[in-house]
Amino acid sequence: MGFLELGKELLDLAYPSSLYCICCNKIIDESRVYRLCDKCNEEIKWSNGRTCKKCGKLLSSINPSEICFNCRENEHEFDRGFTICEYNEHARSIVLSLKYGGRTDIAKSIAEMMSDKMLMIKESKSHVIKERKLQGDSKDGYSDYDIALPVPMFKDKRKKRGFNQATLIAREFAKHQNIRCREYYIQRVKDSAPMRGLKPVERKENINGAFRLTRYAEELRGKRILLIDDIYTTGATLDEISRLLRNVKPSKVDILTFASGADVLKEEE
Ligand SMILES: [Zn+2]
Ligand SMILES: [Zn+2]
Repeated sequence: MGFLELGKELLDLAYPSSLYCICCNKIIDESRVYRLCDKCNEEIKWSNGRTCKKCGKLLSSINPSEICFNCRENEHEFDRGFTICEYNEHARSIVLSLKYGGRTDIAKSIAEMMSDKMLMIKESKSHVIKERKLQGDSKDGYSDYDIALPVPMFKDKRKKRGFNQATLIAREFAKHQNIRCREYYIQRVKDSAPMRGLKPVERKENINGAFRLTRYAEELRGKRILLIDDIYTTGATLDEISRLLRNVKPSKVDILTFASGADVLKEEE
């Protein structure tokens, strides 16, 4: 543990971060789920109910389909996506505090939400699991995945920030799910320009060539992979990594993010 981290631990003893809402920073008591105050918990748009069958985002009430507007127009490289909530001002505030506000402890709360989500999905499929068990399929462990992979960050950026928030989340999530979490299979070889303001096609071009698989990636053959990131916008980054992973023939590549852009007819340009 470095000196700075030690300082932080001591500070945490005096003022436990668990006492503050991860969204609005108001003082809460320890019984609050995911360390959210009641108001923030209510105002977060949880991705429950009608969600896109492909990417998992909350479907707009004007969308009669089972697929979101974005997935209808864009083919994705991943198998299935899941997300916790819509990227509204509350989700944004949580992500900003995690990335820039010195509240890396938020990764734990996000991981908890993610693990609960996967458990809920698993339970909703429990009849399938029971059937498989009757057929003697022993493959069903606790998780539907063998390994969690965080979306890598370019090394200079990581050095500057001190951490990759996707890694912090993925590590905590993997602990909950009792699966492995590894960073050494994919490398980010270039730092692409910020995606904000880019159209879907431009995002795709922007991310092209930003990642490469390392020589260890062969170990992922036949594995059930879950890619983890903080935000999903058009899915360009996660698509690019999924596309690369196909080269080593995993049995599936699903994605899990904390927040996802709203289901709108046209992406904001
Ligand atoms: Zn709050
Ligand atoms: Zn979708």
